[in-house]
Amino acid sequence: MNLTKEQSEKFKKLGIKSFSELALLIPHSYEDYRLHEKLTPHKSVLIDATVESVYRAPNSIQITFFAHNFGHTVTGVLFRPKPYMMHQFKVGERDYYYGMIECKVGQCSVSMPRKVSTIGVITPKYKSTLRADVMLRLTRNNLTFDNLASEGLKKDVIDEILKLHFPTEEVLENKELTQESLNALKYIELFSYMKQLSAKRRYFKPLKSIDGDYAEWSETLPFKLTKEQLNAVEDIKNDFSKSVAAKRMIVGDVGSGKTMVILAAAFMNRGNGSILMAPTTILANQLYEEAVRFLPDLKCVLVTGKSKKTDLSEYDFIIGTHALLYKELPQASLVMVDEQHRFGTQQRNMLEKMVSSGEKKPHFLQFSATPIPRTQAMIETAHIDVSLITSTPFQKDIDSRVIHKSDFKELLVSIKNEINKGNQVLLVYPLVEQSEILEYQSIEEARNYWEKNFDGVFVTHGKDKDKEQVLFDFREKGSILIATTVVEVGISLPRLTTVVIVGAERLGLSTLHQLRGRVSRTGLKGYCYLYTNKEKSQRLDEFVNTTSGFDIANLDLKFRKSGDLLKGTNQSGTQFKWVNIAEDENLVKEVKRDLIKSEFTTSSFV
Ligand code: ADP
Ligand code: MG
Repeated sequence: MNLTKEQSEKFKKLGIKSFSELALLIPHSYEDYRLHEKLTPHKSVLIDATVESVYRAPNSIQITFFAHNFGHTVTGVLFRPKPYMMHQFKVGERDYYYGMIECKVGQCSVSMPRKVSTIGVITPKYKSTLRADVMLRLTRNNLTFDNLASEGLKKDVIDEILKLHFPTEEVLENKELTQESLNALKYIELFSYMKQLSAKRRYFKPLKSIDGDYAEWSETLPFKLTKEQLNAVEDIKNDFSKSVAAKRMIVGDVGSGKTMVILAAAFMNRGNGSILMAPTTILANQLYEEAVRFLPDLKCVLVTGKSKKTDLSEYDFIIGTHALLYKELPQASLVMVDEQHRFGTQQRNMLEKMVSSGEKKPHFLQFSATPIPRTQAMIETAHIDVSLITSTPFQKDIDSRVIHKSDFKELLVSIKNEINKGNQVLLVYPLVEQSEILEYQSIEEARNYWEKNFDGVFVTHGKDKDKEQVLFDFREKGSILIATTVVEVGISLPRLTTVVIVGAERLGLSTLHQLRGRVSRTGLKGYCYLYTNKEKSQRLDEFVNTTSGFDIANLDLKFRKSGDLLKGTNQSGTQFKWVNIAEDENLVKEVKRDLIKSEFTTSSFV
């Protein structure tokens, strides 16, 4: 796309980079600058008129026009006219004026008339950061069929969108966007978004192409890998064999067995060095223990903030927290990040960079426990490959219930029951300290009650410096853990069977799902109580009946407008104005197909 300097300045002001995005800035209304012979009340019309008289009152101007196209006089009225408006009306002059027509007892008036120079066309009105006439000219000059086609858009979409910018009678009569227009807008929005995503992806040579196999290894496991674990491992195996460094995100619910996929990847890469980063010491520790257990032939090492400086180059598999980022790392052809949403983009990229060599990059796998709707995964594949693990190795048996104040006694019975069985309970409160606004107790208000009535009560929260130690101690000897949502991290608490979430309606469904995922990780019967003051919540009711994280992600879409779920910090998400991720799966498929085709036919990828 070759723009003049002036054009690109305007594009910049509008926050756009392409003609397609310009096409998405559709007019908010139209003005009909054609001359009509019939006068229609309550409509803005053009008159071809001679000014017969002008009368100025303190707060208004009254003009008598002779409207040649209607063949009679019309009164013009301007209320609170601005100075520049005065000069438009000179007695005896004939010109074109535009304004809203109203008729009362045979006398018609036109309110706020203004002079118009371009006539004979229906003119779109744009709301934008540019001045109206500048914006109009910009669209007139740039929204051509050829310009849009050069960006890969197809004919029927272009035809449809141009109708909105170069309107005919038909568009003028539609009070709302037609389905066809809407589809074109969605298509273009998705097309340019996905095109930009794919343009962001850079392809690098891998440090090593790996001809890995895992069949032999999987035979040594105490269980069979699930079909979806196998699919993910196959995807990775396939990536490894290519002459491009892998860049893949493996998305699977809590408990879907992502660790085995991590270990399979490290196994396939044996002999070349693998590095795995996890967000907490506990998690890194856990992964390390599993690696030692299931990869007996690999030399594994754990690196945390407490680790002494050692030479890491003799290890096959280096597992650690972000402390890794401050170590001397040997070259490794595979880099993995577990619970990747817990890290900033910078941290993730830094790790990748640290072990790169010139133009060559390690294979890079990221693991996420935040299920995303299938449609969104499809969109993401424009810049990163995605594997979804939508099932868990064993079905968890968790009773989920919405409870209210009146259920508190019953809740206590259930909690005591579980503790007597040697199981653990997690109580999630919305706040650490008291707040006047919130109708729920904070941790500090609630802890007295629990500490007085129960043994083994532990308390922690997000700002607690000793959080990890508290969680660790709780795991060993606690009964009740009182916390905020910090416990979202994927630490394993094998005896945890109950979670009570206070003020559940305040949390997103995916957060609730993450919290519920803490429970029953070892197959024990579990309980999830959603405590709320709200009498009725359809959202919570549906949550209670939904177990798969991917279904929950879709529910979340249903209850929020698709946009805000995907905003900013949510990794590579986006906000769409027209596209509705929950409903437009077929469109995503269509755009993806067309995009792949168009990569061969267009040279200029913006
Ligand atoms: P995630 O990291 O996806 O949350 P994990 O990898 O921690 O889940 O796995 C959860 C539990 O399931 C672990 O105890 C793990 O040993 C077990 N597990 C993993 N894969 C299988 C399988 N194919 N069959 C049975 N159990 C499995
Ligand atoms: Mg995990």
